[in-house]
Amino acid sequence: MNAVLFGPPGSGKGTHAKSVAAALGIPHVATGDIFRRHLKEGTALGQLARSYMDKGQLVPDSVTCDLVASRLEEPDAGGGVLFDGFPRSVAQVEWLLGWLAARGGSIGVVVNLLVPDAEIVQRIAGRRACLGCGATYHARANPPALAGRCDRCGGDVVQRADDGEEIVRERLATYARETAPVLAVLRGAAHVVDVDGVGGIEAVQARVHAVLPRG
Ligand code: AMP
Repeated sequence: MNAVLFGPPGSGKGTHAKSVAAALGIPHVATGDIFRRHLKEGTALGQLARSYMDKGQLVPDSVTCDLVASRLEEPDAGGGVLFDGFPRSVAQVEWLLGWLAARGGSIGVVVNLLVPDAEIVQRIAGRRACLGCGATYHARANPPALAGRCDRCGGDVVQRADDGEEIVRERLATYARETAPVLAVLRGAAHVVDVDGVGGIEAVQARVHAVLPRG
């Protein structure tokens, strides 16, 4: 089955994605992670994506949907995937629903993480990520055991370039303008569950897992 983790930047999508994907037995597909990987590898797509990411804007829909289409054609995606950070515009959700329908697929569940803006700004200011494996931390709430070193792979733990205050404000504006309207489309096409995303990581994780379909 396909599932979507939905919510504004900093709502915890990346934090909960691995355990949700494992519980549903499907791979985790995060468009932001794929763009960052291209950026790190210096591909043409990475260069293009950077010019939008650095401004807190969305990478154009055609580029993003082509990227997702090729990911969905990989063999491990045959039983569905968990989307994180996609769809992020009405054009993207309409494309996705069409792509799935043409193949007899659908979206089984959408987990919509609810977090107020004030909390998001605080969270993102302290957010840190591993350059090696992408593991996420928080400077205060969830620091790595050794400052600046990833617990999982030993890589460098740093602040994401687009987590600076000015770009975060732009990303939140982009979310309100382009991504929030996606929810209405999803509510008409899939089972959307609103989950309170405020609280400790384990408490929110338990709430998220409680709404996942069984079996
Ligand atoms: P994220 O890691 O999900 O916060 O994404 C980081 C940045 O990558 C976003 O601010 C966008 O510039 C870009 N991005 C990620 N996913 C998408 C998407 N579905 N559509 C367009 N741009 C995206």
